[in-house]
Amino acid sequence: MSDIAYLNGEFLPLDQARVSALDRGFIFGDGVYEVIPVYSRRPFRLPEHLRRLQRSLDAIRLGNPVTDAEWTRLIHDLVARHSGEDQSVYLQVTRGVARRDHAFPKEGKPTVFMMSSPLVTPAREQIENGVACITATDYRWLRCDVKSVSLLANCLLRQQAAEAGAVEVVLFRDGCLTEASASNVFVVRGGKLLAPPKDHLILPGITYDVVLELAAAKGIAVELRAIPEQEARGADELWVTSSSKEVLAVTTLDGKPVGNGRPGPMFRTVHQAFQEFKRKVMRHAA
Ligand code: PMP
Repeated sequence: MSDIAYLNGEFLPLDQARVSALDRGFIFGDGVYEVIPVYSRRPFRLPEHLRRLQRSLDAIRLGNPVTDAEWTRLIHDLVARHSGEDQSVYLQVTRGVARRDHAFPKEGKPTVFMMSSPLVTPAREQIENGVACITATDYRWLRCDVKSVSLLANCLLRQQAAEAGAVEVVLFRDGCLTEASASNVFVVRGGKLLAPPKDHLILPGITYDVVLELAAAKGIAVELRAIPEQEARGADELWVTSSSKEVLAVTTLDGKPVGNGRPGPMFRTVHQAFQEFKRKVMRHAA
């Protein structure tokens, strides 16, 4: 039996969901998306995800076809139609179907699509031992703050990581750390937690914000600033964060150990705080 998806006003089996070949999402990658983790059937930080969606839509000058109240209702409805307690809701809005022309169509209705899959978080082994990453030059466009469905560069970079047996590819642009192909990156050096500031070169991660809040609550000194490549490579600890990876320690970079090659003490503190925070969210759901 196929999972249930949502497309333009109706719920239907995912394998029956169809969009036109002229959809601008298909032709130009002209659309934006969100991925919302769901713990115990409770969407995590939903208002923040909806705010980021609005920001992405504003950046591509596409009106939001759904109100926040309606998004909330639709997302809860989609979650209820799936059996898993922990899910990953994917939603996408494109500029809709029109004759192929780069400029926006005068009329047209955005395409709205949603699906949900089981949430896959890191395996215990990855949490305990950390993961391998490689590095590459960040050759994406200059609006990485927009959660665009145009992900060709991210796909090419991530494939490079997959072929190297690595979990992620850490990116450097003009000599500084940006992020990874589908995660934000944190550096620990000299007892401080460092991260690149939220600007047009990185996606403003929802998990990035959670990690900064947890670090502040734990009294960890944080610096948001440009991080030169050499500083990142010489880190005591390196982490990747995202809705599915949560907080994950990177223990080798390009085959070389990061710090002592084991997940560090600050990682363990923040990872534990993250798990406690999640449990608190789940308790609210009960
Ligand atoms: N950067 C990029 C490029 C991403 O694709 C993602 C995940 N969508 C992130 C960072 C992390 O964002 P979040 O914590 O909201 O999952």
